[in-house]
This record gives sequence, C-alpha cells and structure tokens, in this order.
Amino acid sequence: MIESTMQDFPLGIQHLFTHGRRIHADSEVITWTDAGAVTATFAEVGDRADQLAAALAKLGVTPGDRVGTFAWNNQHHLEAYLAVPSMGAVLHTLNIRLFPEQLAYVINHAEDRVIIVDASIAPLLGKVRQDLTTVEHIITFGTGDTSALGETLDYEELLAAGEPGFDYPEIDERAAAAMCYTSGTTGNPKGVAYSHRSTYLHSFGITSAQAMGFSQDDRLLLIVPMFHANAWGMPYAGWSVGADLIMPQQYLQAGPLADIIEHTRPTYSGAVPTVLNDILHNRPDADLSSLRGVVCGGSAVPRSLIEGFDETFGVTVVQAWGMTETSPLAAIARVPKNTDEADAMGWRVRTGRPLPGVEIRICGDDGEELPRDGEAQGEIEIRGPWITASYYNDTADEKFHDGWLRTGDVGSMEPNGFIQISDRAKDVIKSGGEWISSVDLENTLMSHDAVLEAAVVGVPDDRYDERPLACIVLAEGAEFDPGQLRSYLADKVAKWWLPERWAPIEEVPKTSVGKFDKKVLRQRYADGDLDVTETR
Ligand code: ADP
Repeated sequence: MIESTMQDFPLGIQHLFTHGRRIHADSEVITWTDAGAVTATFAEVGDRADQLAAALAKLGVTPGDRVGTFAWNNQHHLEAYLAVPSMGAVLHTLNIRLFPEQLAYVINHAEDRVIIVDASIAPLLGKVRQDLTTVEHIITFGTGDTSALGETLDYEELLAAGEPGFDYPEIDERAAAAMCYTSGTTGNPKGVAYSHRSTYLHSFGITSAQAMGFSQDDRLLLIVPMFHANAWGMPYAGWSVGADLIMPQQYLQAGPLADIIEHTRPTYSGAVPTVLNDILHNRPDADLSSLRGVVCGGSAVPRSLIEGFDETFGVTVVQAWGMTETSPLAAIARVPKNTDEADAMGWRVRTGRPLPGVEIRICGDDGEELPRDGEAQGEIEIRGPWITASYYNDTADEKFHDGWLRTGDVGSMEPNGFIQISDRAKDVIKSGGEWISSVDLENTLMSHDAVLEAAVVGVPDDRYDERPLACIVLAEGAEFDPGQLRSYLADKVAKWWLPERWAPIEEVPKTSVGKFDKKVLRQRYADGDLDVTETR
C-alpha cells in the first residue's frame, strides 16, 4: 500500500458544529411555543451550547459519559445535540413515549449520569426516578411541575453561572457520539451507539441532492422527534449547511402543524405516514406551498398518501427507508432517470434505492444472496459506514450475518437496486406455505374512500395455518361493509390474499414510535375482543 498524503482529519461532530455556527451564524433555530415562534441565530445557539458544555463539565461529565435528553424538539434539545458529543460525551436521546419499565431499563442500561429534561414532561420521567441507578444530576428547562424528579438543577441558571466559550477536546472519530434504543416490540430495547464518523458521514449522505438536497436556502421543519433515530439526521445535516431549523415541540397534530407551516414557511420536512395522513384528512385546506418536499418513512408509505399530497397540496412526498440501526436513512425512492412520467408513481410507491455508501442485498432462508430480479423475496441485509455492527452491551449475534446487519424486513430487489419491502419478518402472513404481504393489503385498503386506516394481521387458521384479518378504521361517516371492501380488493391483489375476517376498530394501536402495533391486534383477536365478521 502507498501511504496517502492526505490529512488524517477526524470526522467529528464538533467540526460540523463549528462550521455551522461560523459560516452560517445568521441562520435560525425557531421553536414553536404557546406564544408563537421563538427565534435564535446559530451564533446564539452555538454560544449557549458552549455554556452547556462548560456546565456539564463542571458537574463532572467527562468524555465517554452518557448524558440523556428527555425533551420535545426545541432549541434546548438542539443545544444538547451540539454540546454533548462535541465535548466527547455521549448523547442519549430518550424516547419520552416508552413504557415506564422500558424507560428505566434504557437509562440504567446506558448508565446515564445526567439527564436534561423538558419540564413540561417531567412527570413522565418522574414515574421512574426512583428506579434510576446511575443518574447523578437532572437538569430541567422550560416550564412545568418538576417535583416528581426530586432535586433538579435549572438549565438557565447553570448556563448563566459559567464563563462564555468552551475548549472542546479533539475526539477519536470512532468514539461513540450518541445513542438510541430501538423501540423493542419484543424483549428489551437494544441500544445503537453512533460514532462521530458515522454521524458525520450520514449527515453528508442525507444532505446530498440524491437524498434530500439540503442547503442554506432550506428551512427544515423537524416533525420526527429528536428522540427517535435523531430526527432522521436532520439536526446535524441542517446545521452543517446552515438550513434554518424549525422545532414544533409537542404541537404535532394536523391543526397546529398546518399553522406552523403557514407561519414559518418551511421548505422541507420529514414525517411518518400517520402524521401526513392526519394533515391530509384533517387539514386539506392548509397552505403547504412553501414545501419543496417531505420525506416519509418509518413504515410503508401508502400510494393514497403520495397521490393525496400531490393532488391536494402540490407537495412531493418522497418515500425513504431506514431504521434506528442505520442512522437511520439508508434508501430513498427517487424516480430512476429515463422513466416515463406515466411510470413514475410505480417507483415512488416502492421502498427505495440505497444511498451512496450503503450496500443492500436480499438473502434467502439459507443465508445465500437472492437474485436482483424483483421477484425473489428474502430478508434485507445492509452494510455501510453508518450501519450498526452490533448492539450496545448486548449480544444479538442472530442480527448479523458476515458483517451485514439483518434488518428483519422482508422484500425483493429490482435489477436497478430498488428494494420493495413486503413486510417485517414477524408480520408476514404465512398462508398455506406462501407469504401474504400485510403491507400491500393495508395500502390497497387505505386507498378506499371508506377507510381511514387499515391494519392486517395473520391469525391462526385450521386449513392454511394463518390467514389475514383486516382491522379497519373507518373514515368519518363511512359504513362498515366488509363485502364491499373485499370486492374492492378483488381485482387489485391475488385471490388467495383476500381476507375472510374483518373487524372494525376505533383506531390502530401504535407503538412508542407511532407504528402499527400488530402484536396488540393479534392479542385482541386471540382474546375475542374484536367484533369479527366473516365474508368469503
Ligand atoms: P424500531 O425501533 O421499531 O426498529 P425504527 O424506526 O428503527 O423503529 O423502525 C425501522 C423499521 O421501520 C424498518 O425495519 C422497517 O420495518 C420500517 N420501515 C421504515 N421505513 C419503511 C418504509 N419506507 N417502508 C416500509 N417499512 C419501513
């Protein structure tokens, strides 16, 4: 090997931080509050992040220590995003929607020493305060009753007490910068520890025009929580290019989001399908004309949603795929070049193609790679510089295969690299030895006017082992008519896919990260709690 002549300059978050505050000092962080928008410049936020780093150091936080955050998306949370990794500590973003036992588990497992808490949700953390074995200090900001947390420190007082500035240490790019736990639908949550290098490269990856194309001209509305897979990487990516960052805090329902968008005029956003569906159905009058695009993922994006946004708002919804383990963005559904306009939608509704740097393959049950023919179905495996190689202090060898992460998603791949996820491995319906995609059935059902949401789960069947049960949330004023829904599906999916069992439900149960919680539906069915109609 010939030694290169290039500088061995570390890919550190502190360098993204410094770049943003210096080069884009006037860019803005806008936090939505009861009283309207509160704005600070990158220069101001940077100075406050220095003071936070200084305050944490004074409390004894040293490189490698875990600092938790328990907060909505707001300026304070961003200050922690910038300060904690830059000082060499590890930012642990806590999912405020975890069940109490899981919340205590992840804090104790990560051994958080300090937690920075949004006072408005302090009681949620208060529920587990007694169970936290490693937390030495709790710092609170904002307003709210913090009494359930016992003794706390005040964020603003800590910042005011310090001298301006902070002398950041140089950090090994392979050191952990941040961590996130998966939502753990089965068993305990598992932690992913992102490195500086992985976060840096992911930021560049998602900023590229082949992904989201962020620049200083953008204003990014961060709807995805900063406690869920780093708000899909938008805080660091946006900061590094000087895009304004709009923080909606807890105002995440259709009404307030429409107001925020009309008032702050974001150019780009990202959200899970449920949030976008909410806006489409409940605020079709909203003016979303400032948006040049919205990236959507976290679960399959229904065609009806993509078309609905095109037609109602003139806004392009771009499907993306990823997971906590993949930083998270791994694939994006851009229409391949030279596609006829009439065929574009066929690509937009698929899962996506890998971002540069990321490699994806599909493997069969025997672990062998399957052909890229758009037909063969297997587990999606992935590798690359921002894909996790293990879980934090957890053995899960079965999740890895020769240096690739096994995603637990089942799908196929086209010759051009486009993947199509048909299901999560655990949600695939195995009927008479063949697979039925619950996702396909759901998407097709959701394109029917009477259906607001549909969740399809496999339930035991004497003859075929498992058959689909369609759980339907009706659109306002619609009647529950399984016969009609079945005939609607009849010319859109294979005949043997058609569900025989149908149940109306008030709403689809959701996990802590807003995904359909099919485990709950399967249990309700087993307990006889669903009002099931059979049609054949
Ligand atoms: P969890 O903690 O539940 O793993 P993640 O946000 O990491 O939460 O979830 C990742 C999973 O979400 C993926 O493995 C996949 O099943 C699903 N997912 C994400 N994006 C898409 C998409 N575009 N289409 C289908 N499924 C998706």
